[in-house]
Amino acid sequence: MLDCATLKPERKCIFMKKSGCSYIDNRCKPIVEQCKGCNNIEVYGDTTYCKVYAEPATKWVVIGECPLATHNKKEVKEDKSAFQRRKGKSMRGR
Ligand code: SF4
Repeated sequence: MLDCATLKPERKCIFMKKSGCSYIDNRCKPIVEQCKGCNNIEVYGDTTYCKVYAEPATKWVVIGECPLATHNKKEVKEDKSAFQRRKGKSMRGR
């Protein structure tokens, strides 16, 4: 894997080839609004990029969320009564 020679000096990148950046338009795309607050953000010059994805918008627009976002984690709340029902069900199954 080669170091980026386009926007992120010294960062290893799978898109960097001997002929240059092979990503769309030959460069990474800036973060999108939904990325704000994520720990994977990094700033080069006056633009903010993602450390992981070359085009953050594709995660938020296509998938609807980013699987590697360090913020915006969905809260997993378990209804105690639902837990009790499942526990009771499994106990009866014994
Ligand atoms: S990891 Fe996801 S949410 Fe975080 S900056 Fe990258 S694309 Fe945005």
